[in-house]
Amino acid sequence: MKSLRCPLCRSREQNEIFTWESMPVFCNVLYKTREEALGAERACVRLVCCGRCGFIHNAAFEPERIRYGPHYGNPLSASAHFRQYATRVAEELIRKYGIYGREIVEVGCGDGYFLKLLCGLGRNQGIGFDPGYNPRGAGS
Ligand SMILES: [Zn+2]
Repeated sequence: MKSLRCPLCRSREQNEIFTWESMPVFCNVLYKTREEALGAERACVRLVCCGRCGFIHNAAFEPERIRYGPHYGNPLSASAHFRQYATRVAEELIRKYGIYGREIVEVGCGDGYFLKLLCGLGRNQGIGFDPGYNPRGAGS
């Protein structure tokens, strides 16, 4: 077991939920050929839940294997269906939690599309963080 302690509360009470022995390291990479896709770099995913605080994480995560490159991209906003779904979710979150005129931080914001929705619909301001963010490819 690589991670014996909860990364949040440091508890050793870690309960395994599920293990995938061979999963693609990235799910947002477009390959030119089927063969390239089938040869994608793989790693183990072992989800564990902390018995103390409930945090779920991948205990087999190897951060050194995460290398964002030009083939990485996760923008979903090209899909009209996704845009409609994201707008509905943003409207519901804003209404349910009264998110108006606030400052929002999104960790793992991708191209910032959803954060921009939250800001535009609720007159909020936002800051997003994502190691794969590409300002040239960001949605409007
Ligand atoms: Zn914990």
